[in-house]
Amino acid sequence: MASLIVELVPALSDNYVYLIHDPATGASGVVDPAEAAPVEAALARAGRKLDVILNTHHHGDHTGGNAALKAAFRCPVLGPAGEVDKIPTIDRAMQEGDVVTFGSLRFFVIDTPGHTKGHVSLWCREAGVLFCGDTLFSLGCGRLLEGTFEQMWDSLLKLRTLPDETLVYCGHEYTQSNARFATTIDPANAALAARADEVDRLRQAGRPTIPARLGDEKATNPFLRADDPTIAQAVGLVGARPVDVFTMVRRAKDNF
Ligand code: ZN
Ligand code: FE
Repeated sequence: MASLIVELVPALSDNYVYLIHDPATGASGVVDPAEAAPVEAALARAGRKLDVILNTHHHGDHTGGNAALKAAFRCPVLGPAGEVDKIPTIDRAMQEGDVVTFGSLRFFVIDTPGHTKGHVSLWCREAGVLFCGDTLFSLGCGRLLEGTFEQMWDSLLKLRTLPDETLVYCGHEYTQSNARFATTIDPANAALAARADEVDRLRQAGRPTIPARLGDEKATNPFLRADDPTIAQAVGLVGARPVDVFTMVRRAKDNF
């Protein structure tokens, strides 16, 4: 498998900014720079410059560093086609079907609306890496701030088709609180209990729970399992459409 080096840069209260590096070509980039300073510090430590800035969606905690980093490195900003009007620093729009070249690697753009209307996710098949912003979280999913429940469920189904080995790099360290909620929905799930224990250990040690393995998310994340009868039963909707189960689970999390 081709390698893509991903460095987590914690930013703001619970965001992860991702510095990406292709060792084959030396290309460097950043995904969702919440703020510029920690990114510049991490780049300086590694002795690298930025070749590209990638945004999954328009929220300030994913784009706040765009302008300063773009000015410092004179590199382009690529962001979702549906949100160009909301991200004035964008140089090139991305939408589903686009392939973004990054050094020797390629990122496939997947439209994943729901959290925002134009949200995109980036999948590098060769390296087995997914950047999904605030669509899929470990053991959770993003809040529906602009899109519909149908859109978010469809977006999660798209991400669920990716290979189990895919490493999921999401926008926030929300895993521990997500685990508490997931356990109320799916208390008999041994894989979930094991992941919740692992998450507690990692957080206790001050370590990130990211990346998550997509195969583990498929087995433990209740938002990816709205078409599993166990989850339907947990929310009292046996036989209901998966999107209705998803809606109920998402609403329960909003009120958790
Ligand atoms: Zn967001
Ligand atoms: Fe966010």
